[in-house]
Amino acid sequence: MTDKKHDHQKCLSLFKKLSEYLDNELDDKTCEEIRHHMEECIRCKVCLETLKRTVELCRNIKTAGIPDSLKERLKLMVYDP
Ligand SMILES: [Zn+2]
Repeated sequence: MTDKKHDHQKCLSLFKKLSEYLDNELDDKTCEEIRHHMEECIRCKVCLETLKRTVELCRNIKTAGIPDSLKERLKLMVYDP
């Protein structure tokens, strides 16, 4: 994949905030930053969608949090040098 706009450092720093973002724990500025990034970064967008679905699933089965194994997998998806 050769999307020039893709900045791994940016993706990784946002990745750490995604679960907080989904829990609405971030301030408006950071939410805006994430939304803006999602518009130009398809990988992060896919990652967020996957995370969102997983969080919903976890809530349904009343499991606390996102499994670390999945976090790792998503991280690899975003950070693919
Ligand atoms: Zn990204």
